[in-house]
Amino acid sequence: TFRLGPRISTWDKDRKVWLRKNPQFPNYVKGRPRILLVTGSRPNPCDNAVGDHYLLKAVKNKIDYCRIHGIEIVYNMAHLDKEMAGYWAKLPLLRRLMLSHPEVEWIWWMDSDAFFTDMVFRLPVMKYRDYNMVIHGYQDLLFEQKSWIALNTGSFLFRNCQWSLDLLDSWAPMGPKGPIRDEAGKILTANLKGRPTFEADDQSALIYLLITQKDQWMNKVFVENSFYLHGFWEGLVDRYEEMIEKYHPGLGDERWPFVTHFVGCKPCGSYGDYPVERCLKSMHRAFNFADNQVLNLYGFRHRGLVSPNIKRIRNETVPPLVNVDQFDIRLMVNRGS
Ligand code: UDP
Ligand code: MN
Repeated sequence: TFRLGPRISTWDKDRKVWLRKNPQFPNYVKGRPRILLVTGSRPNPCDNAVGDHYLLKAVKNKIDYCRIHGIEIVYNMAHLDKEMAGYWAKLPLLRRLMLSHPEVEWIWWMDSDAFFTDMVFRLPVMKYRDYNMVIHGYQDLLFEQKSWIALNTGSFLFRNCQWSLDLLDSWAPMGPKGPIRDEAGKILTANLKGRPTFEADDQSALIYLLITQKDQWMNKVFVENSFYLHGFWEGLVDRYEEMIEKYHPGLGDERWPFVTHFVGCKPCGSYGDYPVERCLKSMHRAFNFADNQVLNLYGFRHRGLVSPNIKRIRNETVPPLVNVDQFDIRLMVNRGS
């Protein structure tokens, strides 16, 4: 069967030795695990030129979040393994990055079509101390319903360790494009509730793996739903004004979603489940909603959730450092922990 690469079996030990030899690259910095956010998009331009503009907005949004929270970021546009094109591309990439960045403790995959919409919220990493994977979803949808949307692979984290390499190895075999992926799609559709007929996708394959090999993996998988590590965009994007009125960033849940993910929207190309115009407008709203939280420090905000224009929200006469103390998210976040 298909392999992501040569078998590696001593990663935990090898990495530990490397970390000891390279104290200038610690995997924990100021008591927090070093996190690398990984995202990317196809090597070619979008079919719809405006799609590239939205990819730019989406990466600006991620750069802002990562800068504020001291998270490193990788943007990938290459296909490391041409058999694993499309949504499967994240698997060889995550493996490669784990092996190339032993100093990184957690690798966080995020789809290009997911936006951070709570710029203040910070991952409760200490909660995940005894786990190797963190993914948004619901245990009952997974094990009772066997639903194909029980988990979402648009935003999830892997600890850099042997267990994660093993999971990737077990996850990958349904991925190779062509007859293997097509045949695997039939198995997934036959076994997962609600799944339409199509080739094997990474999300269904992960769900199927965790259902069929529950005892082997689940003790290290944290199924998160106390906040939106992934939040389905429909039902969120139309409530932003209400959230602004009632709540404040930092909550991360339905009151102020951490991530808004545009599942089923394909502004860049191929056929989506929703009209492109509705997707673009909604993405614009998510972007501005988040960007207002970034612009706040500088004393501006967007005129509306779909306007590219901004307006001043404070007068300039206040001593600048007073505003820094009051509005810099990094200071707010540190005060809170
Ligand atoms: N992706 C990539 N290279 C590709 C195709 C997809 O890096 O050639 C990434 C991209 O970040 C995308 C994710 O894989 O958001 C999931 O792919 P999918 O086709 O499911 O796109 P989505 O449903 O997120 O639009
Ligand atoms: Mn997506």
